[in-house]
Order: sequence, then C-alpha cells, then structure tokens
Amino acid sequence: MSQETRRVAIVTGAARGIGAAVAIRLAADGMAVAVLDLDEGNCADTVKEIETAGGKALAVGADVSKTDQVEAAVGRVASELGGPTVLVNNAGLLRDNLLFKMTDDDWDTVLNVHLRGSFLMSRAAQKYMVEAKYGRIVNTSSSSALGNRGQANYSAAKAGLQGFTKTLAKELGPFGITANSVAPGFIATDMTAATAARVKMSFEDFKTAAAAQIPVRRVGVPEDVAHTVSFLVSEGAGYVSGQVIYVAGGPLC
Ligand code: NAP
Repeated sequence: MSQETRRVAIVTGAARGIGAAVAIRLAADGMAVAVLDLDEGNCADTVKEIETAGGKALAVGADVSKTDQVEAAVGRVASELGGPTVLVNNAGLLRDNLLFKMTDDDWDTVLNVHLRGSFLMSRAAQKYMVEAKYGRIVNTSSSSALGNRGQANYSAAKAGLQGFTKTLAKELGPFGITANSVAPGFIATDMTAATAARVKMSFEDFKTAAAAQIPVRRVGVPEDVAHTVSFLVSEGAGYVSGQVIYVAGGPLC
C-alpha cells in the first residue's frame, strides 16, 4: 500500500461541479475522500461514483461558513475516515452585482463562504496535519482575483484567498504542510451556466463567446482543475508551496 492510499482528503463543495471532479480524482489517486457540501444528501452522486470505481468516500453535510458545523464535520471525518491531511477548499457561490447595486448581504455571503469558509476549514484541519507532520491545502481562487466587472465581492474574496494561501504556506511549512491556490478561468459548471442565464444568453452561446477569447480556444472542464489539484496535493509536490496556478487556457495578464 502506498503512502497516498492512506491519505484522507476533504473536498468542500464536492456535490457537483469542480469539487465533485476533484473528489473523484483524489479518490482515483488512492485517497479516502470526505465529500463535503451544504446538504449531505446532495453528496450522494459523487460518493456513488467514487464507490462504484472502487474508492472510499464519506458524505458530510456542513456550511463551511459556520464554525460549529465545520468543527463537527472535520471531527466526524477524523473519526470515520482518519485524520485529514489533504484539504481542498472549493465551496463557493456568486452574488454578482455592480457596486452601486451590491447589498451588504451580497458582500457578506460571498466573503463568508469563500474566505471565512476556507479559514475555518483550514484551521480545523491543520491540527491533524501538524500531528502527522504532513499536509496539503489547496484554496480555490479564480481569474476574477485580477478584477472582474460585477464581482467586487467575489474578486475581493478570491484575491484574499491568494494572500491567505501564502500566509498558510509560511506558517505551516515547518510542519511539512504545503498550501497553494488553484485559480480557474472559465470552467463549464452550474456556476457559469447560472451566469449565462443572468446575462440572458444560452449556455452554448456563452461558452462559444468565452472560448473565442481563450488562447486554447475552448472553455475549461472541471477535470482540468482536478488534474492540477491532483498534482498540488501529491507527495511529490512537497517543494511547491505558496503558489497560485491559473488553470485558464492561457495567461491572463
Ligand atoms: P458550483 O457548481 O456552483 O458548485 C459549488 C458547490 O459549493 C455547490 O455544491 C454548493 O452547494 C457548494 N456550496 C456553496 N456554499 C456552500 C457552503 N456555505 N458550504 C458548503 N458548500 C457550499 O460551482 P463550481 O463552478 O464548481 O465552482 C467551484 C469553485 O471554483 C468555487 O469556489 C468557484 O468560485 C471556483 N471557480 C469556478 C469557476 C468556474 O468557471 N466555474 C472559475 C473560477 C473559480 P449548493 O449546491 O447546495 O449551493
């Protein structure tokens, strides 16, 4: 049995989209995976796909922005699967609006889920990583960290995650723990489908228009991100820390 077979990973927002692809990939890499999302019942499809392929998974319901739920969820993972040494903070949502129309709730909700959620999950999981003197944390940033019209809340959260990641890399590095950010560009998921609906475009037309602006001339799929996360959480990536990897089909600036 390889070391990686014994690793326990938590992937947040893993009921669908990028998180589901990451959970499935890490299970295929040999990890036992806690598939965490708001509603435990919604994790069933991801868990089933992992188990059908012969992997090990546990559905866990928690709101990553709530301290008590995060502490309980990480504790449950530790007792049912073992201490987590891999954490992928992926849970997210959008509340897009131009600044003059953005409500306090739009701002707080996005900052709470992306930034506070990643903080709470990382704080709860680092204990097991420090004990194991090994850990891998990946925070999901975005190309929007560089600024995006209508996303003052989201771009602030995603840029914040890059600073958060670099600080974790410095604080936790002495314990054998790396922290990196993956920053996707346009990835075809329910999130981008919802954006298409908001701007009153069919998802197909929206993707075609986006692809025309991307150097590799296609939009991304969740597996593109999962592949990069798989590398960042691998044992061999132990000398890569505090980095931001854009998975966007080309350079962004
Ligand atoms: P998605 O399809 O909307 O999936 C997001 C998942 O996160 C959903 O299952 C959602 O649960 C869950 N979630 C939301 N709030 C949560 C909370 N408080 N606690 C736990 N789970 C929560 O989104 P996606 O496109 O896969 O995006 C995944 C991540 O990549 C996000 O952080 C997103 O910002 C980032 N990203 C995406 C793109 C893109 O083009 N798609 C680009 C850059 C970055 P519910 O279904 O119950 O709401």
